[in-house]
Amino acid sequence: MSLKVEGLTRQYPGNPKPTLQGLSFDLPKGTLTAMLGRSGAGKSTMLRCVVGLEPFERGTLQIEGVTVRGTDEVSAQQRAEQLRAARAKLGLVFQSFELFPHLTALQNCTLAPVQVKGLSEAAAEATAKELLSQLGLGERMNHFPDQLSGGQKQRVAIARALAMDPAVLLYDEPTSALDPSLKAEVISSLKRIDERHVTQVVVTHDLQLARAVEHVCVLDQGIVIESGPPSKVLVNPDHESTRTLLQAWLAEG
Ligand code: ADP
Repeated sequence: MSLKVEGLTRQYPGNPKPTLQGLSFDLPKGTLTAMLGRSGAGKSTMLRCVVGLEPFERGTLQIEGVTVRGTDEVSAQQRAEQLRAARAKLGLVFQSFELFPHLTALQNCTLAPVQVKGLSEAAAEATAKELLSQLGLGERMNHFPDQLSGGQKQRVAIARALAMDPAVLLYDEPTSALDPSLKAEVISSLKRIDERHVTQVVVTHDLQLARAVEHVCVLDQGIVIESGPPSKVLVNPDHESTRTLLQAWLAEG
C-alpha cells in the first residue's frame, strides 16, 4: 500500500452538499493512476485534501505508513503533526509548472533539496542532473524557464518534484497547457517515472493521457464510481456517467 484513502468527506462552508461523500481508493506502490470525472466531480478537492491544502472533516489518508485523519476526528495539534509527516512524503506538479523564472532548470531542482532537506549542493546537483537526464533534459540543464518549451518546463517541474524523493507524486492537469506533440513527451516521462516506484496520481481530462496509464479511477459526486485498466473503463465502462464523460471527450476531439 502506498496511498490509501478511506471514507474521506469534505463539505465546503456555505455549500449545502458535501463535495466528497466518503471517497475511498487504494493505490499500490509504484502505480500510475489517472483520476477522471466530469467537471464538478470532486477531483480538485480530492487532490487538495490529499496534499493538505484543503481540510477534510472525516476519513483517513494513509501515505506510506503516515496516517492523516479528519478535522472532526483529531485535535488541531495532532492533525498539524500528521500533515507535517505526510507532506514530507508528497510531491505536487501543477498545470502551470510554477518554476522559478530566475533559476536555471538545474537550480530549480536543487533549491528545495538543499534548503528544505539539508542536502549538500554537490549531492543535490548529482541527483538533479540524473533526474533531468532521465527526463530527456540533459542538454537543457542550464537553460532558464523562458528558454524552454512548455513540455520541457513541465518535465523540469516533474524532475524538481522527484528531487525531493516523494513516495507519492500528484499532478494537477499536467498536460492541459500543452500542444499534442508536447503532451506526448510529458506522458512518456510519467510512464518512465513509473519504473522508479513512485506512486503517481494524475488528475486529468486528457483522454490521450488517460489511455496511456495503467489504472484509471472515475469520480462522480465525490466518490469513485469505477476503476480499472483503461482498456476496460475507457472502452466498456460499467457506469452511465462514465459513458457520458467519454462521449463528451470524444466529441471534443
Ligand atoms: P472537479 O475538480 O472535479 O471539477 P471540484 O473539486 O473543483 O471538482 O469541485 C466539486 C464541487 O465542489 C463543485 O461543483 C462545487 O459545488 C464544490 N466546491 C468546490 N470548491 C468550492 C468552494 N471553495 N466553496 C464551495 N463549494 C465548492
